[in-house]
Amino acid sequence: MAERKRLGDILKDAGLVSEEQIKETLNVKKSDQKLGDALLERGLITEQQLIEVLEFQLGFPHVSLYRYPVDTSLLSIVSKDFATRNMVMPLKKEENQLTLAMNDPMDYYTIDDLQIATGFQISPVIATKDEIIQAINKYYNLKESEEAAPEVDESDQAPAIKLMNQILQTGVQLKASDIHIDAQETKVLIRYRVDGLLRTERTVTKSMQSSLIARVKIMANLNITETRLPQDGRIKANINSVPVDLRISTLPTVYGEKVVIRILDLGSVLNRLSELGFNKVNYQRYMKMIEQPSGMVLITGPTGSGKSSTLYASLNHLNTDDQNIITIEDPVEYQIEGINQVQVNKQTGLTFTHGLRSVLRQDPDIVMVGEIRDSETAEIAVRASLTGHLVFSTLHTNGAVATIPRLIDMDIEPYLVVSSLSGIVAQRLVRKICRDCKRKVEPTAMEREQFEKRGLSINEIYSGKGCGNCQYTGYRGRLAIQEVLVMDDEIRKMMMNNSSISEIRNYVWRNGMIFLIDDGLLKVKKGLTTIEEVMRVALDD
Ligand SMILES: [Zn+2]
Repeated sequence: MAERKRLGDILKDAGLVSEEQIKETLNVKKSDQKLGDALLERGLITEQQLIEVLEFQLGFPHVSLYRYPVDTSLLSIVSKDFATRNMVMPLKKEENQLTLAMNDPMDYYTIDDLQIATGFQISPVIATKDEIIQAINKYYNLKESEEAAPEVDESDQAPAIKLMNQILQTGVQLKASDIHIDAQETKVLIRYRVDGLLRTERTVTKSMQSSLIARVKIMANLNITETRLPQDGRIKANINSVPVDLRISTLPTVYGEKVVIRILDLGSVLNRLSELGFNKVNYQRYMKMIEQPSGMVLITGPTGSGKSSTLYASLNHLNTDDQNIITIEDPVEYQIEGINQVQVNKQTGLTFTHGLRSVLRQDPDIVMVGEIRDSETAEIAVRASLTGHLVFSTLHTNGAVATIPRLIDMDIEPYLVVSSLSGIVAQRLVRKICRDCKRKVEPTAMEREQFEKRGLSINEIYSGKGCGNCQYTGYRGRLAIQEVLVMDDEIRKMMMNNSSISEIRNYVWRNGMIFLIDDGLLKVKKGLTTIEEVMRVALDD
């Protein structure tokens, strides 16, 4: 058994973090947060590095829980509550020794508590947090549903409540953005959208369908008896101690109601601008654009390209006492303190156009219009930005340059558009290579060519091999790639003279604009993502 050392000293001795980084982390971390977790959160170390240090320096064995033969009789010795609270999973018992998978094998309080409570000698091994959560859900939930089965008294709803909780827990664990409950002819599919891609995680028997959907409706305060019309609702909940906002929508299909649950992780929605993945050059250009007192800044990209994150981060950056910031949104996705947010409501006639007119009478400094959908809204937004307001909005266009003709097509006087626009950001999300199974690979001839075409060279690239932490996909989390077009007098002149898109594109390219694909390839070069990912999202341009 290792002597009781402090994690900070061990990481420092291993050369992974500096004394200053530890001090700084101790200063900013929440009081109940562990040092290891805080270092992980700040990206100073990876979970893999942490595990390796604990494994090699202190001799704690590292186990993979996916295929570990867990002795389920131990579930009655260590309660689910204790396991969840302390992030541990009992594995096996040999004589007086209880082998315990722990995310933090240096958590001596937990070891001592369990030793006293059970009378066993605790022998800790390391496992990742995700694997422990999954093992807890798998084994303890199984135990609960087996125990619940013979109880005839329990209302019909109980299994549905448990199943629904499991479905939501899995969604939060996988960091899914949406959960789909898809009614089919003979079964119900539970599908999760993770990092932008939808996949089926489990199937549920058809007999559970109606009680499961009733359960969701009860949670979201919807009408249970209405099954022929679509309904929308909202749930605020704490799942696996993560505060989430769930948006529920139901849709009648031939096989029954389909339910989609959108998960908004309230802890991570509000990023800082510096955390959005802008490269250094684009970041400086964008900051300059939004720190002006007036003008129009547009964020473009298809649905699910992270436009709202960029908008919210920008507003939050500008959110000081001396600024009156008003937004008009559909829907208000995230509430920011100190900002006046208005929800569009078609039933009462509060459209983007009407809302924007009223907002402008409220003496704003900064206005955010969720989306420019028609000429009228576009025109008011343009005029507002010409009369001393900083206006943010979004458009569903592909590239930054391609947005210019779209604006002019909206029946606004070109000189108004030209003089109001400060700049345009086009954005996409790519999947990030899983940091736990990332390895170097040799680029293929084709991949080299992709780089050469954009005037870049490449010697080595990275890819994820696939591991338990990324569900064997090789990817975990997402990252934005951007292009930032800053308006200047030359572009304004070209717009007034009806220059073609390709002429404008050539001009900005010569002047050092970084296009989406270039930003993507630079991020490939840095080992953050792969060429396939960049091509998947940036090629339609
Ligand atoms: Zn991985």
